Amino acid sequence: MNVFSRLLNKLSDKELEVLLLIHSSTNLTVQQLEAAADSKGKDLSVPESLGHLINEDLVQVKVFGNDAGALNLSWLGYGVVNWSRQISEPASRPAEPRQGENGEVPPVGRMGACDEYRPISFRPGYCWCLVHRSEHHTSNGLEAAEP
Ligand SMILES: [Zn+2]
Repeated sequence: MNVFSRLLNKLSDKELEVLLLIHSSTNLTVQQLEAAADSKGKDLSVPESLGHLINEDLVQVKVFGNDAGALNLSWLGYGVVNWSRQISEPASRPAEPRQGENGEVPPVGRMGACDEYRPISFRPGYCWCLVHRSEHHTSNGLEAAEP
């Protein structure tokens, strides 16, 4: 089980919805987030949900001068959102990210090219390492069929 999967399992439905709202925009203020939640017609308990997401290091608050803080996903937050998208596709066994991969930012410090194409469902043709399938050098270029 990867780190994003473990974190995702700890989130309530409301917290995941709030995380997805923050993902859908950049530099949201808390007020804008509240308005977005209201427009969904649901009570997402924004203050509590947001507090938990910040405590889990999934959301970061940036403060510009005297402005209200701007909310953005952290590296981990992107990984959790991307993993939730990965498992929402009906794949028998979703390909997993490796350490240092979150599906959003190219992994840093990787020694050599990725040796196994692990498809990321929402970026067709791309691997969790964010390199195109054609750049992978495996013996057959395809995962073996399931037994
Ligand atoms: Zn790869």
